[in-house]
Amino acid sequence: MFVNAASRYPLILNPRARSERAQRARRFVMENATRFAIYATNTAEESAELARRFSEEGEEVVVAAGGDGTLNAVVRGLIGTETVLGILPTGTMNVFARELNIPFGHLAGALEVIDGGHVKEVDLFEAEGTPFVQMAGVGFDAQVIEETTTESKRLLGPLAYILSAVRVLGSEPPRMKVHFDEGFTVEGACVLLGNGALYGGQLRLFGKADNADDLLDVLVYKKAGYTAALGSLGTAARGGFEADGKAVEYYQTSGLTVESDRKVPVEVDGELWGRAERVEFKAMTEKLRVLAPAERGKNWWEQVLANLNPGGN
Ligand SMILES: [Mg+2]
Repeated sequence: MFVNAASRYPLILNPRARSERAQRARRFVMENATRFAIYATNTAEESAELARRFSEEGEEVVVAAGGDGTLNAVVRGLIGTETVLGILPTGTMNVFARELNIPFGHLAGALEVIDGGHVKEVDLFEAEGTPFVQMAGVGFDAQVIEETTTESKRLLGPLAYILSAVRVLGSEPPRMKVHFDEGFTVEGACVLLGNGALYGGQLRLFGKADNADDLLDVLVYKKAGYTAALGSLGTAARGGFEADGKAVEYYQTSGLTVESDRKVPVEVDGELWGRAERVEFKAMTEKLRVLAPAERGKNWWEQVLANLNPGGN
């Protein structure tokens, strides 16, 4: 499905973002000011309401300029509407943009994707009524997000999460029961959920994930020990992940409920959602429509590369 490029897109922007990347993004938006009607918002609620209003006014596309938090807010506003989301990734991690292969270091490229008009339909899931498009977590990963500063994220990228994990893992791990909709229960100390494959930047944690298959990919950490967590994150950082069945188990499900022996932090799309003893995750009936590059098979790329470099090497 395609939408036509607009001469001017409504653009929702978080003006408080202070990073160098955010400033570069604002400059890009100003340099392309004729392409956007710019709306600055101060809170996630404002971003969601604004997106909803644009949709009600009949806008075909609404562009969000920001990181995963801003995107999540705009997505919430667009749920159940016909309006398509455009993304100018200007955050620190931009996990959802990376998942969709939207250029994240090159805003002119991201604008080309928006103008290209190729619409992808993506599954939406919710945690106790809060929608998410990319990932969620219960336990130490959420605690890590709670304790990882924006500054360290900027400096260290995904490594910041790992370093914070080392700091928070000292406490005794919670005991969780994970009840899957398919009718079985497993125990663990931390649960990570992926709609897409990527988690926390370029970590391809959910190797089998497809964000358009109606399934949530789930990692259950059997014990929140240093070895388990660091071992698996380290493996993921090196480009692959194999659940070994002892420290971590991998599932695909239509939904699940996590019950913990105490209140544990919960994160949704990289933002702290809150603390709870029981959290239900389930699919939403609505899909997100988002502008993304058309997907091409790996073989296509291999062919291109082979043609470019017929001699090999
Ligand atoms: Mg899926």
